[in-house]
Amino acid sequence: MRYHLVTLGCAKNTVDSMRLEQALRAGRHISVDTPVDADLLLVNTCGFIDAAKDESLAVVRELDAERRPDQQLYVVGCLTQIAADDVRAAVPRVNATFGAEQWDAIAAALGPASETYDIPDATALPQFGQPSAYLKISDGCDRPCTFCVIPGIKGGMHSDSTRRLLAEARMFAAAGAKELVLVAQDSTAYGEDRGERDGLATLLDALADAVPDVPWLRLMYAYPGRVTRTLAETMERLPNVVPYLDMPLQHGSNAVLRRMKRPSLRVTRESLDAVRTAMPDVVLRTTFIVGFPGESDAEFEELLAFVEREQFDHVGAFTYSPQAGTPAATMGDQVPEAVKTERYGRLMELAQGISHARNRTVVGRELDVLVESTEPGQSQSGDPIVVGRTYRDAPEVDGLALLKGTFAAGTIVRARVVGALPYDLLCDPLTDAPA
Ligand code: SF4
Repeated sequence: MRYHLVTLGCAKNTVDSMRLEQALRAGRHISVDTPVDADLLLVNTCGFIDAAKDESLAVVRELDAERRPDQQLYVVGCLTQIAADDVRAAVPRVNATFGAEQWDAIAAALGPASETYDIPDATALPQFGQPSAYLKISDGCDRPCTFCVIPGIKGGMHSDSTRRLLAEARMFAAAGAKELVLVAQDSTAYGEDRGERDGLATLLDALADAVPDVPWLRLMYAYPGRVTRTLAETMERLPNVVPYLDMPLQHGSNAVLRRMKRPSLRVTRESLDAVRTAMPDVVLRTTFIVGFPGESDAEFEELLAFVEREQFDHVGAFTYSPQAGTPAATMGDQVPEAVKTERYGRLMELAQGISHARNRTVVGRELDVLVESTEPGQSQSGDPIVVGRTYRDAPEVDGLALLKGTFAAGTIVRARVVGALPYDLLCDPLTDAPA
């Protein structure tokens, strides 16, 4: 779903909106700049003084007056927390109201989005307040996954030239990027179209050399079975490659994986072992599809058992949706939507508990926090906070680090983790970096 978010009020509300956007992005909802392009209009309101309340209501009225019948309007935040009835009285056609900090509930109300299997576009130069950039190393895909439309749309995998990628990385570094996130449909296939073996490991070596001032190089979209010992050991050896790996696994039942034409659990295990052996501290992210055609109760239970066993730090999930032109779209035994949604909820509940437990394991540790927010916020106790991430969290899809103090976006601050929320970490700085 495409949403347009308007944020009113104080700096804390700006931070709240970031949290809300994070929940929405995790559900693969997409932000758009103008109301006319949106399926959903969202207003994060402020209601502490009358003037703020009037401004919030004026914005809601205006959006309501101009919206099309197919566009939904949600009003959230402080004003609806304390005076939802006033909002409904002023603008009766509002579709839903939510109080402050109900971000996950809002995302849940929109329902699980369908997987698009696409990767983020390489961004323009990092903007102020966005010290991370995506480096798209290849596009297209040669894999045979039966649910996926990408090879049909984008064709076979084609790697970008190493020379161009190094130049792009240097450009990002010169513009102030502190983190480069390597993306591709299948990052581990990098160089295969040129006949290279271990092309990704070679590229990581070259990148680490080319941009030594970018402390975080992060690898996303690895393919199980293609994460070799060489790759894992290269990641471990290079000081500016973070011990983090995103490896979409899609399911935890061999029977379902066979129908998906994906690598088996045995092959997956080899990759997980290689990574964990080389980097005992590695943070693992994965994604799953629930409700693939024919997924039985027992197969779904196998997925839950797999997730329980592997204790992934971050899990994303999508309900299966048929994509025209793919083999899975015409498979018999499609799973009813209600069953998919129920399974999605159960998987995410399990994964959330595990994420929380994994976050708790780093409480007390010293980690670097990359500050991302451009505006300071406030903790519940009134202390100023800024929002960032540790190496444990990838931008847009994982959690945040809430860091006490006032620091400029793009700063890296040494901090102690003092608390763990299900997805986010609470951190105290160990240095007084300039704001
Ligand atoms: S690896 Fe599979 S799911 Fe990913 S892009 Fe390629 S075909 Fe699609």
